[in-house]
Amino acid sequence: MAQTTNTHRPLDPKTAKVGFIGIGNMGEPMAAHLIKAGWDVQVYDTDADKVRRFTAAHGGSAAAGLEAMGQRSNAIVTMLPDGHIVRKVVLEGADCLAKGLARGSVIIDMSSSAPVGTRELGAELAERGIGLVDAPVSGGVKGAVNAALTIMVGGDGALVQAVDPLLAPMGKRFQAGSLGSAHAVKVLNNYVSAAGLAAAAEAVLIARRFGVDPQTVINIINASSGRNNSTENKFAQFILNRKFSSGFSLGLMAKDIGLAMEVAKACKVEAELGHACLALWKEAETELGGKVDHTEVVRHIGED
Ligand code: NAD
Repeated sequence: MAQTTNTHRPLDPKTAKVGFIGIGNMGEPMAAHLIKAGWDVQVYDTDADKVRRFTAAHGGSAAAGLEAMGQRSNAIVTMLPDGHIVRKVVLEGADCLAKGLARGSVIIDMSSSAPVGTRELGAELAERGIGLVDAPVSGGVKGAVNAALTIMVGGDGALVQAVDPLLAPMGKRFQAGSLGSAHAVKVLNNYVSAAGLAAAAEAVLIARRFGVDPQTVINIINASSGRNNSTENKFAQFILNRKFSSGFSLGLMAKDIGLAMEVAKACKVEAELGHACLALWKEAETELGGKVDHTEVVRHIGED
């Protein structure tokens, strides 16, 4: 019988049955690390080709559906576009996890979901005896591939400890606080990241029109006080060489800034800069579409 977490014993790869839902840009390498670390993993994605490619490349098994996955699993990881989809997959779809999951099982939402929605979902799942932990990540596809993600973790302390062995093969864990706290920190982090990328793109455009070579601007900023993650890890790697291949879409970035501003509103913080940043990214999404790489925001900001 599958091990349960109702006593909050740490999950053990020898006994746990893990379901992993959403094997996209991030989920694929993350689930692959779990299999490599010896966990028994079943995967599910609405894109059946991704499931076929995943099991052929990494092993694991394919779930027949969500209820069926729930029946066999005592721990589920979700790595989906947003919290609405997580809620549908967990609780609301005609075929959903909650129909199959036993009391004592745990869901770990690693997606960047809306923090308020996470607290609501946690309360509803608690009534069914199912635990919820939020564990969103930072570090991008590179961090996922290298098992070097920053994993922010929120939830009941004992449950957080219980799921730690399952999170360990994917990156470094940082406890954020109660359920939803990690999702809040994650979207606030992405707001700061998005503002940094947009500010650097504006600076590069202005400097270029003033006659300075863009790579020179980035080199000097990177040795100066204006440097940030985008100047260090995105401009030379994805923007100035026109590759635009970071693996994180513009639509997902715009979603995260919007979620950060929802948290600001709930906390009665005006966040003037945050709203200006959100407007810029939303306009970029309207102009370029949400599916392009988020680094293409420079096309909206302007380039010569
Ligand atoms: P993605 O679009 O590449 O992957 C999402 C996957 O979910 C896809 O394979 C899709 O088919 C699947 N999916 C969608 N709806 C589904 C459903 N109802 N049931 C089952 N599967 C479904 O996205 P991603 O870049 O891997 O991002 C996933 C999450 O991680 C998002 O919340 C994103 O904000 C966050 N995130 C992404 C990055 C990044 O660099 N890409 C970094 C940190 C966090």
